[in-house]
Formats: sequence, structure tokens, C-alpha cells
Amino acid sequence: MSPLLALLLAIVLAAPLYAAERAPTFDAHIHYNADSREAYAPQAVLARLDEAGVARALVSSTPNEGTLALHAAAPERIVPLLRPYRTDADRGRWYRDESLPAFLDDQLRRGQYRGIGEFHLYGDQARTPVIARLLDLARTRGLLLHAHTDAATLDALYARSPGARILGAHAGVGADAATVATRLDRHRTLWVELSLRDDDVAPDGRLARDWRALFVRHPDRFLLGTDTWAVHRWDAVRVTHERARRWLEELPPEVAEAIAHANAERLFGPARAAGGRSGGAAGDGGAPEGNRERKEFGT
Ligand SMILES: [Zn+2]
Repeated sequence: MSPLLALLLAIVLAAPLYAAERAPTFDAHIHYNADSREAYAPQAVLARLDEAGVARALVSSTPNEGTLALHAAAPERIVPLLRPYRTDADRGRWYRDESLPAFLDDQLRRGQYRGIGEFHLYGDQARTPVIARLLDLARTRGLLLHAHTDAATLDALYARSPGARILGAHAGVGADAATVATRLDRHRTLWVELSLRDDDVAPDGRLARDWRALFVRHPDRFLLGTDTWAVHRWDAVRVTHERARRWLEELPPEVAEAIAHANAERLFGPARAAGGRSGGAAGDGGAPEGNRERKEFGT
């Protein structure tokens, strides 16, 4: 390589993609399911997050042991969610499983889960006694709910539990920007993450006008996400965050920073310094973190 080419390459590589070094991103949709656990040990997962510039991640898995293993490997980076599925088959029946509230209650006593999800819920499924119990449990403990659902079901959840703290997965799945805007206006304790919405938010890599306007109108309500539901999706983590860093550059810096990581930090608190908490392994007791969190996020 000629010296000139090397210099040009160095300049190109040093071009300031948004927050490439200043503000690492937060990924609000990581799963570490059984198949991923077979493919990648916790340290390998953390290496993939490193190469994507992802500082911290919201993690859930089927079964929950994957989440606990990853959290034990890096408690300062992993924000664990309790999944209401013990097996993949639970996905289609969990909302009417009478044994679920006791299971959730028991698991939450471990004191390290920050919320419940990601779960899938549609229509009348949101009106079962089991879901009513889930909403009560979340309110009592100040837990976040990571819900893969549509706008109408979201309204039903808020009707049953006003003030519920809900993170809408995939920004309402297929919801358009106007629908998301209406829900963010209507529900003050709703946040949304943008996993799998790249092609809507930034087709061809450039921000769509309606989504840009929405980010500026509600800068404090959006988070980034990938969704690693299967082994092949780990390749998407780096791509997702690279793309996001590009369209974040089109936003005012404070809005970009909020979406890249600051909103997640407000929701979950700053990363704990290494050694700031002893252990972190499954089963350690102590006050539920959700209760602490509720104080610092009192809306
Ligand atoms: Zn989902």
C-alpha cells in the first residue's frame, strides 16, 4: 500500500461516525436462547457486543438460565429481564397459564431482574386473569414490561394498569410513525425500541422524514435494539449498530445521544462499576432492584 493510500484510509476510518467512541450504544433487544448458548459462550457474546460497540444490553432468553449466565459473566453490562416462557411452547399459552404468577413471583425474588419480557401478546390475550396478575406484579415491584404487541393491545394493557412501564418491542412491530406518535402522546410511561425497524426508520440508510420528526418530538422515549432470536442474528448486532450510528448523525446531538444510550441509562440506571456489587450470580438476595429504580424514575 502506498503511503498516500494508507493516509487516506486512515482518514476515512477515523471519520466521526456518531458516538463511535464517545458514546457506545445500548442494545435493548438481545436474546440469549438455548441455541445461542450452545453456539456462543458468555465471553463470546460479550466479544460480539464489543465489536459492535455495544456497551450494555437488555437481555432475555428461553429458558431464563441463558440470561442469568450472561449476567453473571458481566453484571455491569447486562440488564436482565425475566421471560415468562419456560419452554418455547409457552409462547402460545403463557397468558392463560395459571401457574405463571407463582413462577414469576418466585423468580423475581432473586432480586436481579429489572423487568419481564420480551413477551408476545395480542388482542383478548391481554384480558386474562394471568395478565392482570402480571401487571399488578410489575406495578408493585416497579418493573419494566418488554412487550411485543400492537397498538390496540398496548391500549388494553394501559387501560388495565395506568402508569405501567412498558417498552414496546420493534416500535409496535409494523406500526407506522403516526401510530407510534399517538401512543407516545397517550401513554407517558411508554418507551419503544427500534429492533427490526431499520428499513422503516432509515430506508437506504437515511432517516425517513416522519421518523425523524418523531425522534425530535419524543427524544426521551426511543432505544436501539437488534433482536438475536436465533444464532444467525448475532451477525446482525454489528450491522444494526453501524447503521444506527449513521442515521443518528442526522439528528441533533442531544437527541442522538439520548437514543444511542442515555434513555436506557435513565431507565435502568448507569452501569455499575466493576466490583461495585459483590457476586451478581443467580440467587443472591437483597432488595429487588426494581424498587430502587422506581424511586429514581418516579413518573
Ligand atoms: Zn419480538
